[in-house]
Amino acid sequence: MNADVVATEIDSLRSTFGDGSRTDAELRARCAGMLDRLRALWRQSPELFGPDELLALKDISRALRTHEPTQLPLNGAAGPRRERFTPEMIRAALKAIFGFDTFRPGQEEIIAAVVAGRDCIGVMPTGAGKSLTYQIPARLLGGTTLVVSPLIALMKDQVDAMQEAGIRATFINSSLPLQERRERLQGLVSGAYELVYAAPEGIEASVGSSLARARLALIAVDEAHCISQWGHDFRPAYRNLAGLKRRFGDVPVLALTATATHQVMNDIVEQLAMVDPATYRGSFFRRNLSLAAYKKGAEGAEGAGGASDRKSGGVRGAILRLIRAHRGESGIVYCLSRKAAEGTAEFLRDEGVHAAAYHAGLQPEERTRVQDAFRRDQVDVVVATVAFGMGIDKPDIRYVIHRDMPRSIEGYYQEIGRAGRDGQPSTCVLFYSWADVISYERFSNDGPPEIAERQQEQAREMFRLADDSAHCRHQRVTAYLGERIVPCGGSCDVCSSRDVLGACAPLPSRSRKQRATGAAPTAVSPRERAAAAAAAEAGPEDDGLFARLRTLRRKLADERGIPAYMVISDAALIAMIESRPRSPGDLLRVSGFGPKKVAQYGAAFLEALRRET
Ligand code: ADP
Ligand code: MG
Ligand code: ZN
Repeated sequence: MNADVVATEIDSLRSTFGDGSRTDAELRARCAGMLDRLRALWRQSPELFGPDELLALKDISRALRTHEPTQLPLNGAAGPRRERFTPEMIRAALKAIFGFDTFRPGQEEIIAAVVAGRDCIGVMPTGAGKSLTYQIPARLLGGTTLVVSPLIALMKDQVDAMQEAGIRATFINSSLPLQERRERLQGLVSGAYELVYAAPEGIEASVGSSLARARLALIAVDEAHCISQWGHDFRPAYRNLAGLKRRFGDVPVLALTATATHQVMNDIVEQLAMVDPATYRGSFFRRNLSLAAYKKGAEGAEGAGGASDRKSGGVRGAILRLIRAHRGESGIVYCLSRKAAEGTAEFLRDEGVHAAAYHAGLQPEERTRVQDAFRRDQVDVVVATVAFGMGIDKPDIRYVIHRDMPRSIEGYYQEIGRAGRDGQPSTCVLFYSWADVISYERFSNDGPPEIAERQQEQAREMFRLADDSAHCRHQRVTAYLGERIVPCGGSCDVCSSRDVLGACAPLPSRSRKQRATGAAPTAVSPRERAAAAAAAEAGPEDDGLFARLRTLRRKLADERGIPAYMVISDAALIAMIESRPRSPGDLLRVSGFGPKKVAQYGAAFLEALRRET
């Protein structure tokens, strides 16, 4: 095939399509088919296409999307709308659905691109709020938005959270009984859902064939790096998504990931056959994470209360003190080995902490049990290996402690990233030693030499970062991810010279047994959070109020069988304490309260606040 043939093909497509306003479904399908063939050709031999040809393809593709047939061929279900959405409409949806007042960086840009029918890729760190960028279009666009997500275990929670916000959502995957799955597939075809979550495996199977008959408005691919071999979580099933765009007509595709490398980003665009995607790349600097590092066993290096201080019980003792300073909050302790995870969890339980171990050696049921208990705040601390990963979307994890050094800077970034997704200040404390580097070297020696070498270098890079007390830690981490920032100024121990560990209350010299029974609580140091900061400004009685509101939230959550964070966020509780709403109208002005939440929980919170005055 040569360039002349391409030009002829495009001319014939142009004349078939006319001005694009015709609503004849058969003709439109034919044009879409021609367009797809040309696109496939372009991917194969881009040199055959001049700038004019490319422009023509884009125009036709856009026209195909914007002039939807007015006659809906299917079951009378509401189909995708392709009206123009103004920024005001998009912002109004944010408050109406989620109760939030302002968008986080990037959200608005991505939503605007998607509702205008454009493919889009969003690369933003964990906690940036990527899910909202398909959830709002799901409501605005009408029809059905498909969300491909790798984790079946999380779908139920995601759907519960959407239903809490008043969106018609469901998930369809292999965990459902056959009859239930059939019913949901029928609902998908008849347009009963605005948002449908499915696993990539399902797209090839029953979900795929129903999708062909559904009114798809948008396909969102979450954790899109799973499609790339270059990413850290490659999943072969994600390759099922390659033909998605072509199979389901010209539906816009939104790909989302927190993986920063450009190689993975380019791979996603190519694999998903995205067309001229809008791109949003966020900053990977997470200001709300306060980073600190302590060297294990370096005598006196950290001054009083350092990790090695014998009287405070070494690293274990230090971890215990940190956890006690965060009493009643959720945290993760990462360990290098399964044995260390088991041992540390047991030690913490002996000390009266609600801790559980999590690693790949446990039975799947036990792992699910630990995850669920953590999500529902029945376990405060999960002591885990790296196996505890992508599946954690609990937004109120207040601290991540590394008992041992992570295997790479990328790993460190992903692991600390699980703290503070809700944007509230959270603490990340790293304990490291050269012995950890040696341990990784021993592990990696089992593999092929090139890989072993790379892994050893990664561990050494991580050590150098941990051991560098001269440069801002955030700056070093983001530099590793290819981003330049100025020193954080106060969110790391280098910039702030703060000693988090030294600020924790020392362990009392009471007997182990006494502590294990939890008989006498130890002094709790001032909480390391904005909650505390907000409360501190308003006086200690507000600290008590915060605790009482949390208890109320717990009760409301238990009544409905959902995790507490789904009722309302910590941030919203703090905002309530500050603004003291007296009426449902006041409450609606609190960020996090939309109409649905005010109707559902408003009375209970207002009553609790009234009792305080
Ligand atoms: P990501 O997928 O990027 O890691 P999520 O979509 O899970 O992040 O969102 C993380 C948290 O941020 C959630 O608790 C969500 O409710 C909250 N969030 C998202 N957008 C906003 C916003 N505009 N204002 C306040 N909170 C938000
Ligand atoms: Mg996400
Ligand atoms: Zn810093």
